[in-house]
Amino acid sequence: MDVTRQDCAELDAADPLGFARERFSLPAGVIYLDGNSLGALPRATPQRLAEVVAREWGHDLIRSWNTAGWIDLPARVGARIANLIGADADEVVAADSTSVNLFKLASAAVRRNAPRRVVLAEAGDFPTDLYMLQGLEAQLGGAIEFRPLPRQDLIEAIGPEVALVVLTQVNYRTGEVWDMAAVDRRAREAGALTLWDLSHSAGVLDVRLNADGADLAVGCGYKYLNGGPGAPAFLFVAKRLQGDLQTPLSGWMGHAAPFAFADRYEPAAGVRRMLCGTPTILGLAALEEGLKSFDGVSMAEARAKAARLGDLFLERVEARLPGVFSLGCPRAGARRGGQVSLRHPHGYPIMQALIERGVVGDFRAPDVLRFGFAPLYVRHVDAFDAAERLAEVMESGAWREPRYAEVAAVT
Ligand SMILES: *Cc1c(COP(=O)(O)O)cnc(C)c1O
Repeated sequence: MDVTRQDCAELDAADPLGFARERFSLPAGVIYLDGNSLGALPRATPQRLAEVVAREWGHDLIRSWNTAGWIDLPARVGARIANLIGADADEVVAADSTSVNLFKLASAAVRRNAPRRVVLAEAGDFPTDLYMLQGLEAQLGGAIEFRPLPRQDLIEAIGPEVALVVLTQVNYRTGEVWDMAAVDRRAREAGALTLWDLSHSAGVLDVRLNADGADLAVGCGYKYLNGGPGAPAFLFVAKRLQGDLQTPLSGWMGHAAPFAFADRYEPAAGVRRMLCGTPTILGLAALEEGLKSFDGVSMAEARAKAARLGDLFLERVEARLPGVFSLGCPRAGARRGGQVSLRHPHGYPIMQALIERGVVGDFRAPDVLRFGFAPLYVRHVDAFDAAERLAEVMESGAWREPRYAEVAAVT
């Protein structure tokens, strides 16, 4: 029997994560389904930023590096992230961007695994990951060979010449989830290292880096972690590897004793050696607030809710608009990350018309409408209502208005 809006309201009333929505400041009348691109604003963030600016910076000035613990922020924020991704507190730091962290770890990994030369990745994966590996290949001039492969050929290709496997746990376009444990097992047997990009999984999946045997990981602070636009990213290095890896960007913040001001670079003992320059304090303070919105949240519950919301949305779209969209993601919630992808040749104008009607998702070329179900603040009624509004846009043909076809710089 079809699910009703009343059923959804009852699911929300009984939702064990219902309390978390109150932690966010969401605009009235908007159903926000793009937390996978830019997480919503936590209510606590504006005040925290105002305090850091006025008191820590404005009044205490440079003393705040010590008195406000600024110097420890990359590790402190890293420890909070570690909690969400199945890592130990001393295996994660927050720093730089995902792109830069990927470069640092990939470079360190291939250096450690020389003379193995091959770096595997998934063809069609998030562009910056592929671009950074192309850049590394060019930089190392023939010392490595970057080999992007179709998804179905990847695991088989992990052989004795492979130094490193770089994969996004949740594919940004299809939402498909890799079996992390299976990839890590195969890589370990073959002597290759794994580097996971958790940009679309941290804060929405029940990620278990250590239990699954992951070696390295990076991820994004501004998506499900709610750190704000351009928030610092994070990186993970399994403890067993920390002493073995050298960052190519050997800046002073990764030095064993930055304030000894020695001429000679000497890496810090743990994951801190992967830091490079001075931490971005305002960004880290905002990210720390974003992470506090996960206090008391079970990631197993969050993951289950995200899958349920996606299932509900899909079911409603198929009931209201049979045959209008093709499915751009796995049907089974367990094989999908936090997003649902629908495909339509006019996906771009359809999404613009929908956004104007208060349902904010996004579009990924060539034809994908993405709907992200951030489990901390999206409700079951939101999934229901979003499908209703999509049905209105399609049935009225409203998306055909020419202005919806004008493509903006950011989609
Ligand atoms: C969002 C995202 C990034 C972002 O990288 P930046 O360096 O922060 O721009 C990288 N990789 C994946 C898979 C992403 O989804």
